[in-house]
Amino acid sequence: MQSEKRQVVIVGAGMAGLTAAAFLACQNFDVLLLDKNDRVGGLVSGFESNGFVFDTGPRAFVNSGIVKPMLKNLGIEWEFLPNVVSIGIEDQLFAVRSMQDLQQYQQVLTQLYPEDEADIERIIAIIAQLSQHTAVLYEFDNPNLVDLKSDRKFVFRKLLPWTFKFLLALRKFEQYKLPMEDFLNAQAANPSLIDILIQHFFRRTPTYFALGYFYVYLDYFYPRGGTRALSRLLKEKVLECGGEIRLKKNIVEIIPAESKVIDSTGCEYHYDSLIWAADLKTMYRILNPARLEAKIAEKVEAEAQRKQSARGAESVFILYLAVNRPPEYFRQRGGEHLFYTPSRRGLGALNQQVRLDLTQNFDQKSKEEVFQWLQDYLRFNTYEISIPALRDETLAPAGQTGVMVSCLFDYQIVKNVEKAGWYDEFKEAFEAGVIRILSESIYQDFDADILFRSSATPLTIQRTCGSSEGAITGWSFETPPPVVHTLKDIPKSVRTPLANVYQAGQWAYSPAGVPIAMLTGWYATQDILKQAKKKSR
Ligand SMILES: Cc1cc2nc3c(=O)[nH]c(=O)nc-3n(C[C@H](O)[C@H](O)[C@H](O)COP(=O)(O)OP(=O)(O)OC[C@H]3O[C@@H](n4cnc5c(N)ncnc54)[C@H](O)[C@@H]3O)c2cc1C
Repeated sequence: MQSEKRQVVIVGAGMAGLTAAAFLACQNFDVLLLDKNDRVGGLVSGFESNGFVFDTGPRAFVNSGIVKPMLKNLGIEWEFLPNVVSIGIEDQLFAVRSMQDLQQYQQVLTQLYPEDEADIERIIAIIAQLSQHTAVLYEFDNPNLVDLKSDRKFVFRKLLPWTFKFLLALRKFEQYKLPMEDFLNAQAANPSLIDILIQHFFRRTPTYFALGYFYVYLDYFYPRGGTRALSRLLKEKVLECGGEIRLKKNIVEIIPAESKVIDSTGCEYHYDSLIWAADLKTMYRILNPARLEAKIAEKVEAEAQRKQSARGAESVFILYLAVNRPPEYFRQRGGEHLFYTPSRRGLGALNQQVRLDLTQNFDQKSKEEVFQWLQDYLRFNTYEISIPALRDETLAPAGQTGVMVSCLFDYQIVKNVEKAGWYDEFKEAFEAGVIRILSESIYQDFDADILFRSSATPLTIQRTCGSSEGAITGWSFETPPPVVHTLKDIPKSVRTPLANVYQAGQWAYSPAGVPIAMLTGWYATQDILKQAKKKSR
């Protein structure tokens, strides 16, 4: 049996693991990064097919005052292209280029729901307020990532006044922590209007996050070469700094009493510190508590139970299309990054009682009922549409366009469908349904110009990234997440009951996404650096 010793072993080469590996390798730690896949990036990945490049994860990145400074600190330079987000409902479309465009949002909503003018005005005012507080979070690079000693002027003139605004924003967020559904039900009478506002987000997203997101639309950027460029750049940095990356290494057991992890071939990797940058349900499932001190074993058991009883957030169904129409055609219809809702009616019960009934009583449903639900769900849903070639023209053959269309989707329904043996047919129905809806609305008759297509389901995501329930941003908001979820406690989110084992990535803190994955990866490195300093004293 192979066995070797490293200072730091990191499991999971997604954005969190890559970030941690890059920072530690550049600090001369002996780093080994392991991933079960044959490529790095985890959810941030992409593929090429016949000259069309598709992003399989985020359609673009939100900087959040984290991603760019993090890359800068690592000495990574790259070209970042603008990414304008647009919002469309039926034939009403507008681009979000500044906070002024909130007025356009108000006009569009008022035109669609004239009887709800007063409710819309009140909600827009709250969006403006929460977006202003969200802007405070994004105003500067995260102070942890900036060399404050060398810029005293910045500290006194900008950072100190900002700290007060920041504390105020935290207080406001605390006030607006309730789920958006509950908040909006108290603000508006029209269920369709409420649906239109919430369909962009995960179920029961905290109000401050969802309504403050209007500002976040302004913070998106797109790396030249596609989103996967970011994971490639981090990988190169790990290797340049002497770190080692080993792929196709599926970790199946953690034995903390012996400070080692074991892969599916029986190979053992010993560590001084371990960073688990992957699914936390998996971590606690494979963690062997044998020979741990009783008190610690108890804590591990309690954490394991908390994690196993929680659920991952909603997943996505993604359609990849190669279209024989030039990018310009799409620029005039919502552009590179569009949140599009083809019908003002909204999902209503289809995403509530009917969906729940479908997940809980699936065995009693006929195939026709399930497929009919799918068609209705597609008709009234909101889609995130992304067009790589409108940011970087090299990402599709000349005169043609790659289009990605996705919507949030319940993992359990697809899992049940697979069990019933209808998986391929369901995928086919999803693809055909989305194409038909878009052909009849925003991209008239484009079904005739589709060169080829494929799709990814929540099960694809679970299989490729080992993400429980195919979740794309960690824990569901439907029950309290079993991890730290207050902004001021983020640094603590990387700790586990085991002194030399850290957790990082989208599962470590909630709500999460790429910036949080990277930030928690970085926080884990800071704890390891501190421990190393203490030891060397
Ligand atoms: C369609 C889509 C849209 C998104 N949109 C956005 C967005 O707009 N904004 C945003 O911020 N975020 C978005 N996200 C979420 C974002 O991509 C993730 O939150 C982030 O990339 C998570 O990074 P991570 O490193 O925590 O985890 P992952 O990317 O899941 O990486 C975990 C890695 O661990 C590996 N692994 C798992 N188990 C094991 C094991 N037992 N042994 C070895 N390796 C293992 C996996 O192979 C994987 O490579 C989106 C994601 C998707 C899929």
